Amino acid sequence: MQKLNPFVDERKKSGTAPLITFEELYAHLTPDQVSFLKEFREIDPAVVGGASRRLPAPAPDTRFVRLDRQAVLRDGKSIRMDTQFLPAAAHAAYTRMMAAMEPDLGKRLLVESGYRSPAYQLYLFLFYMPKHSYSVRETNRHVALPGCSEHGSPAFQAIDFITPAGINGEDQPEEFEELQEYGWLHARAGEFGFSLSYPRGGESAFEPWHWHYEE
Ligand SMILES: [Zn+2]
Repeated sequence: MQKLNPFVDERKKSGTAPLITFEELYAHLTPDQVSFLKEFREIDPAVVGGASRRLPAPAPDTRFVRLDRQAVLRDGKSIRMDTQFLPAAAHAAYTRMMAAMEPDLGKRLLVESGYRSPAYQLYLFLFYMPKHSYSVRETNRHVALPGCSEHGSPAFQAIDFITPAGINGEDQPEEFEELQEYGWLHARAGEFGFSLSYPRGGESAFEPWHWHYEE
């Protein structure tokens, strides 16, 4: 991680961290470290439990829409959010869905996290492991294994929503669950191709903010 952090931090600054490739990650590591990560990528999600499964990798010609003008309130101040990317099809569906939510509620949701390449997902998984006592099984309850995240598979493209007021449910899922916007998603998101991925009482932790799009 010490070798990868400076590189990933640079990419975060330029807003392109979600598009990092395996080749770019591996370029900063020794051959031993690279083969360790290659083995890590082969971990069978069924063996470590949870509901995750391997999802189709992004097609090389996937076109991404860049979102870099989103802002949320934090401590009463407007903060510009990290740049996000969505595959063009998911972006079009999200735009249509918000165009329907806005007249109904006078509110819309922002994209806190959209596309994350499988390589960036691998980095994030490793980053969060110490917080879960280095347990792959425990980390996997909160962060999908690389290749298993809907955030990295345009065929099932996930969006983590956040309100412009900064409510994302991260510390308390109930906070997001109680939103009018959440009720609206339950009633209408299906019309736009979106569904809730991790409902309450499932094998993975409840994530009311995480919805995925299927064409
Ligand atoms: Zn998510």
